[in-house]
Amino acid sequence: MKISILGGGSEVGASCLHIEIGGTNLLIDAGMRMQGDDLLPALGMLDGLDVPECILVTHAHADHIGALPIVHSLFSTVPVYTTPPTADLMKIMMKDAYKILAGRAQLTNSLPPYSEEQVNALLASLLLFPASGVLKVGNVKITSYRAGHILGAVMFLLESDGESLLVTGDLSFKAGRTISGAEVPHTVQPDVVVMESTYGNRIHTDRNTEEKRLADHVVEVIAGGGFALIPAFALGRAQEVLLVLQDYMDKGLIPEFPIFVDGLVTPISGIYKSYPHYLKGPVAHRVRKNGDAFLTEGRCKAVHPREREAVLQGKPGCIVASSGMLTGGASSWYAERLVSGEKNAIFITGYQDEESPGKKLLDLANGVEQTLELNGTSHQVKCRIGKYGLSAHADANEMNRFIQTLQPSHTLLVHGDDEARSRLGELIDPRFEPTLVENGESYSFEKRTSGKSVKGKRYRVNDDAIQLRDKIGSLLFYSSEDEHVLKLAMCTGVHPKTNTLICQTLKGKPVRLQANQVVETIGRWDGPIDELTEATNEVFSFSRPFIKQIAWSKLPKEIVSLNRIYEILGVANIKDKLAIALAIQSFPATHHIKHADGVKYYKMDAQMERELEQLTLPIQAIKMNSATALESVRNGLAEHPRFMRCGVNNIGTPDEQLMIYFDFPDVLMDPERKLLIKRFRDETGWEIAFSDSIRQDLLQNRLVKQLGASIGTPSIHLHDRVVSVSLAKPENAEEMSIQFKETTGFTLQFIDAASTSPLNPNNQNVFKVASAEGRMENNQALEETRKWAAERNITIYKAGIKQEVMEVHFISPEIAIQHEMELEELSWRIGMPVAYAKNPKQNEIIRVAIESFPPSWQPKKNPSIHMDRKTLAVKLEQMPRDEELQKVSQKIEGETGYVLEVNK
Ligand SMILES: [Zn+2]
Ligand SMILES: [Zn+2]
Repeated sequence: MKISILGGGSEVGASCLHIEIGGTNLLIDAGMRMQGDDLLPALGMLDGLDVPECILVTHAHADHIGALPIVHSLFSTVPVYTTPPTADLMKIMMKDAYKILAGRAQLTNSLPPYSEEQVNALLASLLLFPASGVLKVGNVKITSYRAGHILGAVMFLLESDGESLLVTGDLSFKAGRTISGAEVPHTVQPDVVVMESTYGNRIHTDRNTEEKRLADHVVEVIAGGGFALIPAFALGRAQEVLLVLQDYMDKGLIPEFPIFVDGLVTPISGIYKSYPHYLKGPVAHRVRKNGDAFLTEGRCKAVHPREREAVLQGKPGCIVASSGMLTGGASSWYAERLVSGEKNAIFITGYQDEESPGKKLLDLANGVEQTLELNGTSHQVKCRIGKYGLSAHADANEMNRFIQTLQPSHTLLVHGDDEARSRLGELIDPRFEPTLVENGESYSFEKRTSGKSVKGKRYRVNDDAIQLRDKIGSLLFYSSEDEHVLKLAMCTGVHPKTNTLICQTLKGKPVRLQANQVVETIGRWDGPIDELTEATNEVFSFSRPFIKQIAWSKLPKEIVSLNRIYEILGVANIKDKLAIALAIQSFPATHHIKHADGVKYYKMDAQMERELEQLTLPIQAIKMNSATALESVRNGLAEHPRFMRCGVNNIGTPDEQLMIYFDFPDVLMDPERKLLIKRFRDETGWEIAFSDSIRQDLLQNRLVKQLGASIGTPSIHLHDRVVSVSLAKPENAEEMSIQFKETTGFTLQFIDAASTSPLNPNNQNVFKVASAEGRMENNQALEETRKWAAERNITIYKAGIKQEVMEVHFISPEIAIQHEMELEELSWRIGMPVAYAKNPKQNEIIRVAIESFPPSWQPKKNPSIHMDRKTLAVKLEQMPRDEELQKVSQKIEGETGYVLEVNK
């Protein structure tokens, strides 16, 4: 096989390859440079090469098709194959390019590089690549694969007589908004890969962040009364920008504003919309439903050149116009008129050639105010300038991963400047022989004599390093040192000196991992990153539903690797894969076996099977996070008449549980409790418990409702679940009691007002529980006491345990007595007797009193306390009004239990 680089080797521009494989010759692409004196690839090289049997076109960008009219006229009988959208896009792109070239030629009094007739001849002779994606030319089988990048872009796999070559064309793996990312032909292992390297020295910033930044900034400019101009490549980028802005509007994330589309963007968007089956699902759906997804009525309008002035006279809006580098066309027309206005903005979204006005504008953004030359005129730059990464090319990590997947014997790096290609060359495993090719050179490869791959023959790397290198391109579970949770990262390389793994989290954050931090290797992921991120978030936030539906019983009771488990269970879905990997990490240490070759094995036995089935292992994310779980219970019980609230107990401990509170928990019978426990355990993964705490305040409310307001103070005997009211038995007492019991679980007793209360007959102010109740441990009891006070809104000053009795300090015993009922409840909750402190907090009482005095009182000195009489005495200059005095006295008595005495 021989690959000759006519152009597009050490540059982005004029891509053109001549290939000889299995005795068949063909050309892939013939592009043009945008700048410089020499616009064409080195077509002279063709003299020394055999005549091609066909010409293949990867996609319709000018750097891949610009020279085709000339090449076609050289070989007018040779078929030119493109995908259907590429053929349609070429018609627009070629005619526009000719117009520009002819215009330039006129200015310099020269001839354009090709004629209009040559363009028409080419366009008329295009053949469509078969829909099957496979074409046979001479001895070569040609298969096309989707390359992402732009509509219709493909890569080509050429196979002939035991030799194979993959030419990527321009690549993008991350799905944009318009089209899906590149397909990875994992089943093939080509001998040679010719790969683009535009961004071989870059790691893209997060796409969502960039989109949001762009949308927000456009809104800011328009809100400030200016126009936001987005110069965009007519083919690809402009469609992305249009969808970003309109998606944000549809989701209500940004307000509606007018979008104007100008230049080549308009007809190209028209081609995009006519190929809905090449577009991503949601876009295709919108096209089928509304007829368009790019130019939409009432929002996004195509502008004719004669309407441009009117647009700039009208309401502020966003203008999306080609060309992308402000080298001419609509975008530079608008830029000339907007660049000197402080309210306006020019937002750059793509690659800028070194000499382009777009690049100069970005350079200005960092410096002081300067001038910019547009269409031969100098302009003061005063507008806002921004740059946004919405690249349609793969980044270094993605390309490295791609090569790691394909494992070619040779990798030729093209379509990138020297910096980009050499950085990428350093990143790629030397086993895959990355080579930086030169324009004008040919590269020959011998056919392999044996069917074996050449890998390992040429390079003797130590075993550890090979094991590590095998992880490149794989998803890894790793444990970070400080947290005891597993995380997921994608391995993109191995540091050659330190043997650490260079990885990236799904958010694109770089992480370096020691080999021993890697807990398991999940395998490769070749689909879109968005999809992986979504799957991972789902499984890592709540793994239970996935683990639950796995047929663990199918696994043999033997020692198995993760891959073997996948195989036996027949799982292909990434969510299931992640869930299985998470689940088996929870096996006890004795069930983890590490093999000498770095592969991990797991001992499956009857016990593990049972624990997996019953979900009793400490599997990561087997529970929802507490907030989501609480939300889920709250929603589930929203209609339950007894449900009050739910909370989490002992959070972060092995005993953590979700506690559900009902107003009268006794009413809930065992079958219902069991049902709720099962339901919410399944739904949230949490242990479920029910609080026995009874809402006494509601008990009283209920009594008032049933018996009327005149019930006096009922006696509530929590432990016996009895409520006594001092009231003669009404006629319907029986019925009332039944109803009361049904809703509260308490027995209602009517006691003649004359008889004595059964509560605490010889109590000495100690509230006791029966000995059968479980006594809480001291600290827990103190904690519970504080909780009880907070729940009941009771102010206590101190709580302490004295000789097995919980002593609670109120401001005074008089206030404590008012809380008898609650104190009894507390005793029941903590399982120990409760008493209140018998000494008043004198200073507090005085403080409360002083704070309650109106400013006009001006006491001669602080009030004095008389504990025997339970009074507070204060001397004032003047006696206050009765009404005022009464109000203040009431407040003080209510808070302290002490009566205020005022003297002159
Ligand atoms: Zn391209
Ligand atoms: Zn290109």
